[in-house]
Amino acid sequence: MHPYHDPAIETMDRDDLDALIDERVRYTVRYAADHSPFYRHWFRTNGIDPGDIRLHEDLLRLPIVSGRTIREHQPPAGSDFEFLSTGWNSVFTIQETSGTSGTPKSFFLTWDDWKRYAEKYARSFVSQGFGPEDRTVVCASYGMNVGANTMTLAALRLGMTIIPFGKCDFASRVLTSYRPTAIVGSVFKLLRLARRLEKDGIRPAETSVRRLVAGGESFADESRQYLAEVWGCPVFNTYGSTEGTMCGECRELAGLHVPEDLVHLDIYDPHLQSFVPDGGCGRAVLTTLLPEGGKAGTLLINYDTEDATSVVSRKECACGRTHMRIVNPQREAETFWILGSPVNRVDIESGVFQPGNMEYITGEYEATIDEGASPGYVAVTVNMESPDPARADTRGISERFTGHFLQMKPGLVSAYEENELALKFHVVPIDGLELHRTKGRPKRLADRRGVA
Ligand SMILES: [Zn+2]
Repeated sequence: MHPYHDPAIETMDRDDLDALIDERVRYTVRYAADHSPFYRHWFRTNGIDPGDIRLHEDLLRLPIVSGRTIREHQPPAGSDFEFLSTGWNSVFTIQETSGTSGTPKSFFLTWDDWKRYAEKYARSFVSQGFGPEDRTVVCASYGMNVGANTMTLAALRLGMTIIPFGKCDFASRVLTSYRPTAIVGSVFKLLRLARRLEKDGIRPAETSVRRLVAGGESFADESRQYLAEVWGCPVFNTYGSTEGTMCGECRELAGLHVPEDLVHLDIYDPHLQSFVPDGGCGRAVLTTLLPEGGKAGTLLINYDTEDATSVVSRKECACGRTHMRIVNPQREAETFWILGSPVNRVDIESGVFQPGNMEYITGEYEATIDEGASPGYVAVTVNMESPDPARADTRGISERFTGHFLQMKPGLVSAYEENELALKFHVVPIDGLELHRTKGRPKRLADRRGVA
Protein backbone atom coordinates (compact mmCIF):
# COMPACT_ATOMS: atom_id res chain seq x y z
CA MET A 1 0.00 0.00 0.00
CA HIS A 2 2.82 2.45 0.84
CA PRO A 3 5.76 0.81 -0.89
CA TYR A 4 8.10 3.83 -1.12
CA HIS A 5 8.28 7.31 0.37
CA ASP A 6 10.25 8.69 -2.60
CA PRO A 7 10.12 6.03 -5.32
CA ALA A 8 12.25 7.94 -7.86
CA ILE A 9 15.16 8.20 -5.41
CA GLU A 10 14.72 4.92 -3.53
CA THR A 11 14.58 2.73 -6.64
CA MET A 12 16.99 4.74 -8.80
CA ASP A 13 19.27 2.44 -10.76
CA ARG A 14 22.85 2.17 -9.64
CA ASP A 15 24.46 4.24 -12.40
CA ASP A 16 22.07 7.14 -11.93
CA LEU A 17 22.37 6.90 -8.15
CA ASP A 18 26.18 6.94 -8.37
CA ALA A 19 26.01 9.97 -10.68
CA LEU A 20 23.73 11.75 -8.19
CA ILE A 21 26.07 10.86 -5.31
CA ASP A 22 29.08 12.21 -7.24
CA GLU A 23 27.26 15.44 -8.06
CA ARG A 24 26.46 15.87 -4.35
CA VAL A 25 30.03 14.99 -3.32
CA ARG A 26 31.24 17.87 -5.52
CA TYR A 27 28.68 20.32 -4.11
CA THR A 28 29.30 19.20 -0.51
CA VAL A 29 33.08 19.48 -0.79
CA ARG A 30 32.74 22.94 -2.31
CA TYR A 31 30.28 23.91 0.44
CA ALA A 32 32.74 22.67 3.10
CA ALA A 33 35.61 24.64 1.58
CA ASP A 34 33.42 27.76 1.42
CA HIS A 35 31.66 27.54 4.80
CA SER A 36 33.52 25.34 7.29
CA PRO A 37 36.64 26.88 8.83
CA PHE A 38 37.77 23.41 9.87
CA TYR A 39 37.51 21.85 6.43
CA ARG A 40 38.98 24.91 4.67
CA HIS A 41 42.05 24.51 6.85
CA TRP A 42 41.98 20.71 6.53
CA PHE A 43 42.04 20.86 2.71
CA ARG A 44 44.94 23.30 2.83
CA THR A 45 47.09 21.43 5.38
CA ASN A 46 46.53 18.14 3.58
CA GLY A 47 47.42 19.69 0.23
CA ILE A 48 44.03 18.91 -1.26
CA ASP A 49 42.44 21.04 -3.93
CA PRO A 50 38.69 20.70 -3.23
CA GLY A 51 38.13 20.95 -6.99
CA ASP A 52 39.99 17.62 -7.41
CA ILE A 53 37.33 15.74 -5.41
CA ARG A 54 35.02 14.81 -8.28
CA LEU A 55 33.75 11.32 -7.43
CA HIS A 56 32.83 9.51 -4.22
CA GLU A 57 35.91 7.28 -4.75
CA ASP A 58 38.04 10.42 -4.36
CA LEU A 59 36.95 10.62 -0.72
CA LEU A 60 39.01 7.49 -0.05
CA ARG A 61 42.18 9.53 -0.59
CA LEU A 62 41.27 11.98 2.18
CA PRO A 63 42.18 11.61 5.86
CA ILE A 64 39.73 10.46 8.54
CA VAL A 65 38.15 12.90 10.96
CA SER A 66 37.37 11.59 14.46
CA GLY A 67 35.11 12.69 17.28
CA ARG A 68 38.26 13.84 19.03
CA THR A 69 39.03 16.14 16.11
CA ILE A 70 35.63 17.79 16.58
CA ARG A 71 36.26 18.27 20.32
CA GLU A 72 39.69 19.78 19.62
CA HIS A 73 38.16 22.33 17.25
CA GLN A 74 35.45 23.69 19.53
CA PRO A 75 35.50 25.50 22.89
CA PRO A 76 36.95 25.01 25.42
CA ALA A 77 39.85 23.28 23.58
CA GLY A 78 39.58 25.54 20.53
CA SER A 79 38.71 29.21 20.33
CA ASP A 80 35.67 28.76 18.08
CA PHE A 81 33.29 26.18 16.63
CA GLU A 82 35.33 25.41 13.54
CA PHE A 83 32.96 22.71 12.30
CA LEU A 84 30.06 25.16 12.21
CA SER A 85 29.36 25.50 8.50
CA THR A 86 26.68 28.17 8.38
CA GLY A 87 25.98 31.58 9.90
CA TRP A 88 24.56 31.60 13.44
CA ASN A 89 21.31 33.04 12.10
CA SER A 90 20.70 29.84 10.14
CA VAL A 91 21.24 27.54 13.13
CA PHE A 92 17.89 26.08 14.20
CA THR A 93 19.05 23.80 17.04
CA ILE A 94 22.28 23.05 18.85
CA GLN A 95 22.68 19.41 19.83
CA GLU A 96 25.30 17.81 22.02
CA THR A 97 26.32 14.21 21.72
CA SER A 98 27.08 12.44 24.97
CA GLY A 99 30.72 11.53 24.67
CA THR A 100 32.03 8.60 26.68
CA SER A 101 34.69 10.96 27.96
CA GLY A 102 35.31 14.68 28.17
CA THR A 103 33.32 17.49 26.59
CA PRO A 104 30.31 16.51 24.49
CA LYS A 105 30.60 17.25 20.77
CA SER A 106 28.57 20.24 19.63
CA PHE A 107 26.46 19.70 16.60
CA PHE A 108 24.58 22.46 14.78
CA LEU A 109 21.47 21.77 12.75
CA THR A 110 19.72 24.05 10.30
CA TRP A 111 16.05 23.47 9.48
CA ASP A 112 17.34 22.05 6.16
CA ASP A 113 19.28 19.42 8.13
CA TRP A 114 16.19 18.50 10.17
CA LYS A 115 14.18 18.10 6.99
CA ARG A 116 16.78 15.79 5.47
CA TYR A 117 17.00 13.77 8.72
CA ALA A 118 13.19 13.46 8.71
CA GLU A 119 13.27 12.37 5.07
CA LYS A 120 15.61 9.49 5.99
CA TYR A 121 13.38 8.25 8.80
CA ALA A 122 10.26 8.72 6.69
CA ARG A 123 11.74 6.40 4.04
CA SER A 124 12.71 3.93 6.72
CA PHE A 125 9.20 3.94 8.28
CA VAL A 126 7.54 3.45 4.90
CA SER A 127 9.95 0.60 4.10
CA GLN A 128 8.75 -1.05 7.32
CA GLY A 129 5.11 -0.77 6.27
CA PHE A 130 4.13 2.31 8.27
CA GLY A 131 1.41 4.63 6.94
CA PRO A 132 -1.20 7.22 7.97
CA GLU A 133 -3.25 4.60 9.82
CA ASP A 134 -0.42 3.96 12.29
CA ARG A 135 -0.24 5.20 15.86
CA THR A 136 3.30 4.94 17.15
CA VAL A 137 4.49 5.24 20.73
CA VAL A 138 8.00 6.72 20.77
CA CYS A 139 10.03 5.48 23.75
CA ALA A 140 13.21 7.29 22.77
CA SER A 141 14.43 10.45 24.45
CA TYR A 142 13.31 13.85 23.14
CA GLY A 143 16.39 15.55 24.60
CA MET A 144 19.74 16.17 22.98
CA ASN A 145 19.47 12.97 21.00
CA VAL A 146 17.91 13.73 17.60
CA GLY A 147 16.24 10.33 17.17
CA ALA A 148 12.83 10.90 18.77
CA ASN A 149 12.37 14.39 17.30
CA THR A 150 13.40 13.22 13.85
CA MET A 151 10.95 10.33 13.98
CA THR A 152 8.20 12.73 15.01
CA LEU A 153 8.98 15.00 12.03
CA ALA A 154 9.04 11.93 9.79
CA ALA A 155 5.60 10.94 11.09
CA LEU A 156 4.26 14.28 9.87
CA ARG A 157 5.35 13.38 6.33
CA LEU A 158 3.58 10.03 6.55
CA GLY A 159 0.48 11.42 8.21
CA MET A 160 1.13 8.97 11.06
CA THR A 161 0.15 9.62 14.71
CA ILE A 162 2.89 9.84 17.32
CA ILE A 163 2.42 9.22 21.05
CA PRO A 164 5.58 10.91 22.38
CA PHE A 165 6.13 9.32 25.78
CA GLY A 166 9.91 9.52 25.41
CA LYS A 167 10.27 6.97 28.19
CA CYS A 168 9.02 3.43 28.25
CA ASP A 169 7.32 3.71 31.63
CA PHE A 170 3.81 4.56 30.46
CA ALA A 171 0.78 2.90 32.01
CA SER A 172 -0.72 -0.25 30.52
CA ARG A 173 -3.96 1.63 29.82
CA VAL A 174 -2.14 3.46 26.99
CA LEU A 175 -2.24 0.22 25.03
CA THR A 176 -5.92 -0.40 25.61
CA SER A 177 -7.05 3.25 25.28
CA TYR A 178 -5.16 4.42 22.19
CA ARG A 179 -4.58 1.03 20.63
CA PRO A 180 -1.12 1.96 19.25
CA THR A 181 0.01 -0.06 16.24
CA ALA A 182 3.75 0.31 16.87
CA ILE A 183 6.33 1.12 19.53
CA VAL A 184 9.83 2.53 19.03
CA GLY A 185 12.30 1.64 21.78
CA SER A 186 15.39 -0.35 22.63
CA VAL A 187 15.29 -4.15 22.79
CA PHE A 188 15.61 -4.19 26.56
CA LYS A 189 13.03 -1.44 27.16
CA LEU A 190 10.56 -3.36 24.99
CA LEU A 191 11.24 -6.62 26.82
CA ARG A 192 10.77 -4.89 30.17
CA LEU A 193 7.53 -3.35 28.95
CA ALA A 194 6.31 -6.79 27.91
CA ARG A 195 7.01 -8.19 31.40
CA ARG A 196 5.18 -5.27 32.99
CA LEU A 197 2.15 -5.76 30.74
CA GLU A 198 2.06 -9.46 31.56
CA LYS A 199 2.00 -8.61 35.26
CA ASP A 200 -1.06 -6.47 34.53
CA GLY A 201 -2.66 -9.42 32.81
CA ILE A 202 -2.08 -8.17 29.25
CA ARG A 203 -0.40 -10.47 26.74
CA PRO A 204 1.83 -8.32 24.50
CA ALA A 205 1.13 -10.53 21.49
CA GLU A 206 -2.60 -9.91 21.90
CA THR A 207 -2.37 -6.11 21.95
CA SER A 208 -2.92 -3.78 18.97
CA VAL A 209 0.86 -3.52 18.40
CA ARG A 210 1.80 -4.85 14.95
CA ARG A 211 5.43 -3.82 14.69
CA LEU A 212 8.31 -2.73 16.86
CA VAL A 213 11.20 -0.52 15.84
CA ALA A 214 14.35 -1.14 17.84
CA GLY A 215 17.17 1.35 17.90
CA GLY A 216 19.53 3.22 20.14
CA GLU A 217 21.98 0.37 20.48
CA SER A 218 23.11 -2.69 18.57
CA PHE A 219 21.60 -6.04 19.43
CA ALA A 220 22.01 -9.72 18.67
CA ASP A 221 19.77 -11.50 16.17
CA GLU A 222 18.78 -13.82 19.02
CA SER A 223 17.52 -11.03 21.25
CA ARG A 224 15.58 -9.54 18.34
CA GLN A 225 14.06 -12.94 17.64
CA TYR A 226 13.01 -13.38 21.24
CA LEU A 227 11.50 -9.88 21.34
CA ALA A 228 9.55 -10.64 18.14
CA GLU A 229 8.25 -13.85 19.75
CA VAL A 230 7.19 -12.12 22.95
CA TRP A 231 5.31 -9.40 21.06
CA GLY A 232 4.17 -11.65 18.24
CA CYS A 233 5.21 -9.14 15.57
CA PRO A 234 8.24 -8.15 13.50
CA VAL A 235 11.04 -6.03 15.00
CA PHE A 236 12.80 -3.60 12.65
CA ASN A 237 16.21 -2.18 13.29
CA THR A 238 17.13 1.47 12.86
CA TYR A 239 20.54 2.97 13.23
CA GLY A 240 20.69 6.71 13.66
CA SER A 241 22.97 9.33 15.12
CA THR A 242 23.12 13.07 15.59
CA GLU A 243 25.81 13.11 12.91
CA GLY A 244 23.19 12.05 10.40
CA THR A 245 23.41 8.34 9.68
CA MET A 246 19.78 7.05 9.94
CA CYS A 247 19.65 3.76 8.17
CA GLY A 248 16.76 1.36 8.53
CA GLU A 249 15.78 -2.19 7.81
CA CYS A 250 13.00 -2.73 5.31
CA ARG A 251 10.43 -5.52 5.57
CA GLU A 252 12.88 -7.98 3.97
CA LEU A 253 15.14 -7.73 7.07
CA ALA A 254 18.14 -8.06 4.76
CA GLY A 255 20.43 -5.41 6.23
CA LEU A 256 19.94 -1.70 6.90
CA HIS A 257 19.36 0.50 3.85
CA VAL A 258 21.68 3.51 3.76
CA PRO A 259 19.98 6.60 2.24
CA GLU A 260 22.84 6.95 -0.21
CA ASP A 261 21.71 10.21 -1.78
CA LEU A 262 21.88 11.96 1.62
CA VAL A 263 24.76 10.26 3.41
CA HIS A 264 27.77 8.48 1.99
CA LEU A 265 29.29 5.60 3.96
CA ASP A 266 32.70 4.01 3.46
CA ILE A 267 34.18 1.23 5.56
CA TYR A 268 37.58 1.89 7.10
CA ASP A 269 39.89 -0.46 8.94
CA PRO A 270 41.79 1.50 11.60
CA HIS A 271 44.35 -1.30 12.04
CA LEU A 272 45.22 -1.47 8.34
CA GLN A 273 44.75 2.30 8.11
CA SER A 274 42.90 1.84 4.87
CA PHE A 275 39.43 1.54 3.44
CA VAL A 276 38.17 -2.00 2.86
CA PRO A 277 36.27 -3.38 -0.14
CA ASP A 278 32.62 -4.49 0.12
CA GLY A 279 32.15 -7.42 2.46
CA GLY A 280 35.11 -6.44 4.62
CA CYS A 281 34.48 -5.36 8.19
CA GLY A 282 35.56 -1.99 9.52
CA ARG A 283 34.31 1.28 10.87
CA ALA A 284 31.56 3.21 9.16
CA VAL A 285 33.00 6.52 7.96
CA LEU A 286 30.36 9.01 6.89
CA THR A 287 30.19 12.00 4.61
CA THR A 288 27.19 14.33 4.62
CA LEU A 289 25.74 14.71 1.12
CA LEU A 290 24.05 18.01 0.39
CA PRO A 291 21.78 18.45 -2.58
CA GLU A 292 22.70 21.38 -4.83
CA GLY A 293 21.78 24.60 -3.00
CA GLY A 294 21.45 22.83 0.38
CA LYS A 295 22.79 24.16 3.69
CA ALA A 296 24.25 22.33 6.65
CA GLY A 297 24.94 23.46 10.20
CA THR A 298 27.70 20.93 10.78
CA LEU A 299 28.96 19.21 7.71
CA LEU A 300 31.12 16.11 7.99
CA ILE A 301 33.52 14.59 5.47
CA ASN A 302 35.12 11.22 6.23
CA TYR A 303 33.88 11.20 9.82
CA ASP A 304 34.69 8.06 11.82
CA THR A 305 31.49 6.91 13.55
CA GLU A 306 33.45 4.37 15.67
CA ASP A 307 30.77 1.83 14.81
CA ALA A 308 31.82 -1.38 13.09
CA THR A 309 29.86 -2.75 10.16
CA SER A 310 30.23 -4.15 6.65
CA VAL A 311 28.41 -3.79 3.35
CA VAL A 312 25.82 -6.53 2.76
CA SER A 313 25.09 -5.57 -0.84
CA ARG A 314 24.79 -2.69 -3.29
CA LYS A 315 22.44 -4.72 -5.47
CA GLU A 316 18.71 -4.17 -5.59
CA CYS A 317 16.95 -5.50 -2.49
CA ALA A 318 13.91 -7.76 -2.78
CA CYS A 319 11.90 -4.70 -1.63
CA GLY A 320 12.90 -2.93 -4.85
CA ARG A 321 15.13 -0.36 -3.16
CA THR A 322 18.54 0.05 -4.76
CA HIS A 323 20.29 1.80 -1.87
CA MET A 324 23.03 -0.27 -0.31
CA ARG A 325 22.54 -2.35 2.80
CA ILE A 326 24.89 -2.74 5.77
CA VAL A 327 24.98 -5.18 8.68
CA ASN A 328 23.74 -4.04 12.09
CA PRO A 329 26.61 -1.79 13.32
CA GLN A 330 28.31 -2.59 16.62
CA ARG A 331 29.95 -0.04 18.87
CA GLU A 332 33.71 -0.34 18.82
CA ALA A 333 33.75 0.94 22.41
CA GLU A 334 31.96 -2.30 23.35
CA THR A 335 34.55 -4.56 21.73
CA PHE A 336 37.27 -6.06 23.91
CA TRP A 337 40.15 -8.28 22.87
CA ILE A 338 40.28 -11.61 24.66
CA LEU A 339 43.32 -13.80 23.98
CA GLY A 340 43.64 -12.46 20.44
CA SER A 341 39.94 -12.48 19.54
CA PRO A 342 37.64 -9.46 19.46
CA VAL A 343 34.53 -9.96 21.61
CA ASN A 344 31.70 -7.44 21.41
CA ARG A 345 28.87 -6.99 23.91
CA VAL A 346 26.56 -8.32 21.18
CA ASP A 347 28.49 -11.64 21.11
CA ILE A 348 27.71 -12.10 24.80
CA GLU A 349 24.09 -11.12 24.19
CA SER A 350 23.75 -13.67 21.44
CA GLY A 351 24.91 -16.42 23.85
CA VAL A 352 22.51 -15.29 26.57
CA PHE A 353 19.48 -15.28 24.26
CA GLN A 354 20.02 -18.80 22.91
CA PRO A 355 16.64 -20.45 22.43
CA GLY A 356 16.15 -22.86 25.30
CA ASN A 357 17.60 -20.36 27.77
CA MET A 358 14.64 -18.06 27.60
CA GLU A 359 12.25 -20.26 29.54
CA TYR A 360 14.44 -19.66 32.61
CA ILE A 361 15.78 -16.10 32.23
CA THR A 362 14.42 -12.66 31.33
CA GLY A 363 17.28 -11.71 28.95
CA GLU A 364 18.69 -9.04 31.29
CA TYR A 365 22.39 -9.75 31.71
CA GLU A 366 25.74 -8.22 32.54
CA ALA A 367 29.19 -9.65 31.97
CA THR A 368 32.71 -8.91 33.09
CA ILE A 369 36.12 -9.81 31.75
CA ASP A 370 38.68 -10.46 34.49
CA GLU A 371 42.18 -11.74 34.82
CA GLY A 372 42.14 -15.49 35.38
CA ALA A 373 43.87 -17.53 38.06
CA SER A 374 47.36 -16.87 36.65
CA PRO A 375 48.89 -14.37 34.20
CA GLY A 376 47.64 -14.75 30.64
CA TYR A 377 44.43 -16.43 31.81
CA VAL A 378 41.07 -14.76 31.31
CA ALA A 379 37.70 -15.28 32.98
CA VAL A 380 34.42 -14.09 31.48
CA THR A 381 31.56 -14.06 33.97
CA VAL A 382 27.99 -13.69 32.76
CA ASN A 383 25.22 -12.88 35.23
CA MET A 384 21.69 -13.41 34.03
CA GLU A 385 18.39 -12.43 35.62
CA SER A 386 15.73 -15.03 36.28
CA PRO A 387 12.24 -14.78 37.80
CA ASP A 388 12.99 -18.07 39.59
CA PRO A 389 16.75 -18.71 39.98
CA ALA A 390 16.18 -21.91 41.98
CA ARG A 391 14.34 -23.50 39.08
CA ALA A 392 16.73 -22.23 36.36
CA ASP A 393 18.70 -24.88 34.51
CA THR A 394 22.08 -23.17 34.92
CA ARG A 395 23.97 -26.10 33.46
CA GLY A 396 21.85 -26.12 30.30
CA ILE A 397 22.17 -22.34 29.99
CA SER A 398 25.95 -22.48 30.30
CA GLU A 399 26.22 -25.33 27.81
CA ARG A 400 24.10 -23.51 25.22
CA PHE A 401 25.99 -20.25 25.76
CA THR A 402 29.41 -21.89 25.60
CA GLY A 403 28.62 -24.00 22.54
CA HIS A 404 27.31 -21.00 20.61
CA PHE A 405 30.03 -18.63 21.79
CA LEU A 406 32.89 -20.92 20.78
CA GLN A 407 31.23 -21.57 17.43
CA MET A 408 31.22 -17.79 16.80
CA LYS A 409 34.74 -17.35 18.16
CA PRO A 410 36.74 -20.30 16.80
CA GLY A 411 39.94 -18.48 17.76
CA LEU A 412 39.07 -19.06 21.43
CA VAL A 413 38.36 -22.80 21.25
CA SER A 414 41.85 -23.99 22.14
CA ALA A 415 42.22 -21.41 24.93
CA TYR A 416 38.93 -22.69 26.36
CA GLU A 417 40.02 -26.33 26.08
CA GLU A 418 43.37 -25.53 27.71
CA ASN A 419 41.54 -23.73 30.55
CA GLU A 420 43.20 -20.42 29.66
CA LEU A 421 39.74 -19.02 29.13
CA ALA A 422 37.08 -19.65 31.77
CA LEU A 423 33.39 -18.96 31.10
CA LYS A 424 31.34 -18.63 34.28
CA PHE A 425 27.60 -18.23 34.64
CA HIS A 426 25.36 -17.10 37.46
CA VAL A 427 21.61 -16.79 37.57
CA VAL A 428 20.43 -13.97 39.81
CA PRO A 429 16.93 -12.93 40.97
CA ILE A 430 14.96 -10.07 39.37
CA ASP A 431 16.73 -6.73 39.98
CA GLY A 432 19.78 -8.63 41.21
CA LEU A 433 22.08 -7.24 38.52
CA GLU A 434 24.57 -4.48 39.22
CA LEU A 435 23.33 -2.43 36.26
CA HIS A 436 20.00 -1.81 37.96
CA ARG A 437 21.90 0.07 40.65
CA THR A 438 24.07 2.25 38.38
CA LYS A 439 22.94 5.38 36.59
CA GLY A 440 23.24 6.15 32.89
CA ARG A 441 23.55 3.73 30.01
CA PRO A 442 23.87 0.22 31.45
CA LYS A 443 27.29 -1.26 30.99
CA ARG A 444 26.58 -4.84 30.00
CA LEU A 445 30.15 -5.86 29.25
CA ALA A 446 32.96 -4.46 31.39
CA ASP A 447 36.65 -5.19 31.04
CA ARG A 448 38.16 -5.22 34.54
CA ARG A 449 41.56 -6.54 33.54
CA GLY A 450 44.37 -4.36 34.80
CA VAL A 451 42.04 -2.63 37.27
CA ALA A 452 43.26 -3.04 40.84
ZN1 LIG B 1 14.98 -3.60 1.19
